[in-house]
Amino acid sequence: MELKYLGTAAAEGYPGIFCDCSYCIDARMKGGKNIRTRSQSIIDNHLLIDFPADSYSHMLQYQIRFSDIRSILITHTHQDHLYLEDLGLRCEGFSHNIKGTLTLYGNSTLKNKFNQLYLHNPEDTHLSGKLECVELIEYIPVKIEDYIVTPLLANHDPNEKCYLYLIEEDGKTLLYGNDTGWFPEETLNYLHNKQIDCLSLDCTHMKYEQRNNHLGFPNSLELINTLRSLHCIYDNTQIILTHFSHNGHMLHSEMKALAKPYGIHVAYDGMTVIF
Ligand SMILES: [Zn+2]
Ligand SMILES: [Zn+2]
Ligand SMILES: [Zn+2]
Repeated sequence: MELKYLGTAAAEGYPGIFCDCSYCIDARMKGGKNIRTRSQSIIDNHLLIDFPADSYSHMLQYQIRFSDIRSILITHTHQDHLYLEDLGLRCEGFSHNIKGTLTLYGNSTLKNKFNQLYLHNPEDTHLSGKLECVELIEYIPVKIEDYIVTPLLANHDPNEKCYLYLIEEDGKTLLYGNDTGWFPEETLNYLHNKQIDCLSLDCTHMKYEQRNNHLGFPNSLELINTLRSLHCIYDNTQIILTHFSHNGHMLHSEMKALAKPYGIHVAYDGMTVIF
C-alpha cells in the first residue's frame, strides 16, 4: 500500500491563515517542509481521505486527476477536512465528460449535511449518478474498492461521531487518524491483536500535553505504547505523526529531531510511505 500525505496541518494551516506569531513568520520565511496545508491523504493514488478546501491546490501540485477518483473517506465534517461545496461542482455545467459516481463515505453528520445541501428538493437530480454519500457505522467493516475499511470512533467533537479508519488490503493494514484525541475504550478493544503495518496518528500539539479532542506529542507516545501492549504495533510498523498546529510551536526540523529517537516519522506535505 502507498500512503501519500497531500496536507498535514490542523484547521488553520501552518503558517496559520491569519497568524503572525513568530512560528508562522518563521515558517513563511523558511518555506519547504514548514509549509503545511490542511489535512488530506491519498492511498495508492486513488482512494482519498478527507476533502478540505486545499484539495484544489493538492490536485494541481501533485497532478492528481480528481475526475478519476471514485471514493473519498471523510474522517469528520470540520472545515479542515471537508469542503462539501467544491464536491458539488462534479455536475454538468461545471464539469464535462463526467464518468462514474464519486462516493463520499463518513458519519451521519456528513450524510445530513450532504442531504441538506444537495437533496433539499426531491426534483433536484443534477448530482444523481455523479456524487453520492454513504453513511458508515462505527466498527462495521465495508468493502470500498479493493479495501476493507472500518470506521473506528475517535475522541474529538462530541457533536458528531468522528472517525479514524482501519484500511486493509492484500495483507497490509493502515490505521489512519487525525483529530482523534486519546482513543475511546471501544476503539482500543476493537484494535486488540490487530497487526498494523502503518500507523498515522494525530499530533496537533507537538510541544504540549493534550488527550481530549487532539493529541499532544507526549500523549501520542503514550498511545503508541498502549497500542504496542495491545499487540497492534510490531518492529516493522511504520509510525507517522501528522495534523500539526502552529500552536505546537515547532518547525519541521525541530519536530523531526524530537520524534527520531522513538523511531517515529514526522509527516510533511508531499511525503510518501510505502508498506
Ligand atoms: Zn482537523
Ligand atoms: Zn502562528
Ligand atoms: Zn476536527
